[in-house]
Amino acid sequence: MKKHAYLFLSFVFLFSGVFAQEQSNEKPQGHTDQNKFRQMKDLLATPNETRNASGAPGHAYTQQQVDYVMNIRLDENTNQIFGDEKITYHNNSKDHLEYLWIQLDQNMRAKDSKTPDANPESFKTPFNGPTMFTKNNLKERFDGGFNIEYVKNDDGSPLSHSINRTMMRINLPKPLAPGAVFKFSIKWHYNINDINIDGGRSGLETFPDGNNNYTIAQFFPRLCVYDNVEGWQNMQFWGRSEFALEFGNYDVKITAPADHILEATGELQNPKEVLSKEHQKRLKLAEKSFKDPVFIVTEEESVAAGKSRSTKEKTWHFKAEKVRDYAFASSRKYIWDAMAVNINGKTVMAISLYPKEGNPLWEEHSTRVVANTLEEYSKLTFDYPYSKAISVHSERQGMEYPMICFNYGRPDPDGSYSERLKRGMIGVITHEVGHNFFPMIVNSDERQWTWMDEGLNSFVETLAELDYDPNFITGNLPKDIVDYMGGDQSHISPIMSHGDYVYQFGPNAYTKPAAGLYMLRQTIMGPELFDYAFRTYSQRWMFKHPTPADFFRTMEDASAMDLDWFWRGWFYTTDYTDIGVKEVKQFYLTDKPTETAKETAKKYNMNLDDFKDRLVYYAEAENGDIPQDAKGVSDFKFLTDYIASLPEAEKAKLNSAAPKYFYEVVFEKPGGLVMPIILNITYEDGTTERKTYPAQIWRYNDKEVSKVFKTNKRITGLAIDPDLETADVDTSNNSWPRKAEDNKFDAFKNKVNN
Ligand SMILES: [Zn+2]
Repeated sequence: MKKHAYLFLSFVFLFSGVFAQEQSNEKPQGHTDQNKFRQMKDLLATPNETRNASGAPGHAYTQQQVDYVMNIRLDENTNQIFGDEKITYHNNSKDHLEYLWIQLDQNMRAKDSKTPDANPESFKTPFNGPTMFTKNNLKERFDGGFNIEYVKNDDGSPLSHSINRTMMRINLPKPLAPGAVFKFSIKWHYNINDINIDGGRSGLETFPDGNNNYTIAQFFPRLCVYDNVEGWQNMQFWGRSEFALEFGNYDVKITAPADHILEATGELQNPKEVLSKEHQKRLKLAEKSFKDPVFIVTEEESVAAGKSRSTKEKTWHFKAEKVRDYAFASSRKYIWDAMAVNINGKTVMAISLYPKEGNPLWEEHSTRVVANTLEEYSKLTFDYPYSKAISVHSERQGMEYPMICFNYGRPDPDGSYSERLKRGMIGVITHEVGHNFFPMIVNSDERQWTWMDEGLNSFVETLAELDYDPNFITGNLPKDIVDYMGGDQSHISPIMSHGDYVYQFGPNAYTKPAAGLYMLRQTIMGPELFDYAFRTYSQRWMFKHPTPADFFRTMEDASAMDLDWFWRGWFYTTDYTDIGVKEVKQFYLTDKPTETAKETAKKYNMNLDDFKDRLVYYAEAENGDIPQDAKGVSDFKFLTDYIASLPEAEKAKLNSAAPKYFYEVVFEKPGGLVMPIILNITYEDGTTERKTYPAQIWRYNDKEVSKVFKTNKRITGLAIDPDLETADVDTSNNSWPRKAEDNKFDAFKNKVNN
């Protein structure tokens, strides 16, 4: 750029700068619509023929199907899993696919995994026990990645593929046409991680008696989801954000030590080969027992089994239809109990597997909690469609798979336990069994949107827990999210964030969405409207892949409630609720024109004398002091004449007692969220009244609104959100008179009380 051109440009900028400044002095600049009630067109994808504007699957909705035939062997001597799988991939999309993506989740535990590398390290924990010290300082990294032995085409020839960490691309010999099927097979093995050392959603625990408990999942290469939202959902597995999986049919044979009890996703095909006659007989009894669990393997039998070790093996054969994943649990230590649950006339089995170390808690609660969960969730969503739900004991886990989940809750060695542990166990079983509904059946993308399964599930979990025990401390109520929402903003992300990048994961993806839905049901929509809409969402997207927009749209579409303000504030921002009483003014009636009346008359060029004896004036009482000459309705002849002139029918509609007290209450909203105002009014005679104003009260003024109250009794107190329904982060401004000693309402308060 040449110098004179530069000077010229600076002159233009200078001039336009001054001009702009002058302009802004005259008139404020315009702005785009920032109203909290504006519609979410800027945030939601445009509806189309696959996901329609009402939030339902569109007429052109498709999803892929993936079927697996697997042979798995669990080797207890080497703690390894060996497997081969034959995959049938159905391309139901309208697209030609050049490649397929496979998830290799165990590679998160490979020696060269980037997961530990990406985690900052420090000595914030100043000491370690021997296990962690050895792991952190003396040991090489555990090698738990997949060893892929082959990837073969249907004809047995090697299939070109490429591995990028936890993702494997299968390079198809020719593009897979819409409607076509591709068959191929993979063989692999890997080392099973010890959950107590390396953590994990899946793995083994070794007991002091030398026996193992295997809770095994993510153990086979699984297809990624291909859809019209993400294309291939092949975001890497870092260990936190969970899975996106297609539905399909599974035919699985699992070989394990012959003295193990094994349960898994799907229906057992060969009970006569793997179960004793006694086991089969007891299972039949359990299928008829709707009140109490029946033991298939008793504690005594499980303890006896744990004393020896078989060198033989046994193969369990399962088939499962329309599931999005597969998991199993195996140990010779298991006590096994089961009971029948009536789901709308259909019998579903609630099952538990646990070592004696889980007792007495587990025999008392596990299977009953499974049954309660299936019943409660079915009421709020749809009838549980699978044949069983299994709760497997584990020391530290809480993890879900179709029909089976792994749950913590271990008493002390002497069998004693705290209320907290019992609550934690009931909570985790309810939660993990509940995951059968979200995301195992309402199959959302967990890798991208943690809240869609964890948040929705934690919400229904809360209702189920309160049903199991009305005094249950759920931790998911609006009041439970106050500290988080009112906390350090630099550590808070909107709910609509990828789970891998969120600082406070638990409150973000579990508690806040759950508390928000609870608030929506109890306070904003009411259970009737909410439940119908929530059930509609669940049934529309049962065995399908919903997105956030499908949820937001369905909840509005099925209820006739515009909730965009709620989704926008609660899900897309980190704003919080804070509503308070700013000021309470008391008024009295007078026939003397007040200053405000005079000003208003002047503005409209009106002579108040022309209306003498035809106007009532509202005068503000200073400090709540109503002067001696304050008037009542009967003091105004023109008013009583007017009332007397009304037809009897109209007269009958008037309040029999004319109001004596007039109040104007100013509400302030320091918080960014709009919320209903829930107000409790206390009168001088001790009676109370509840008023609720919808969130829309804030639509013209986001900071301050007022309401007028006319009563026959003095108001002695106001309380906003007295039952803590709206997650208000600062309740110090919620009451009037203020609780604090030194405030401007004190004078008023004293007058009222004297
Ligand atoms: Zn969960």
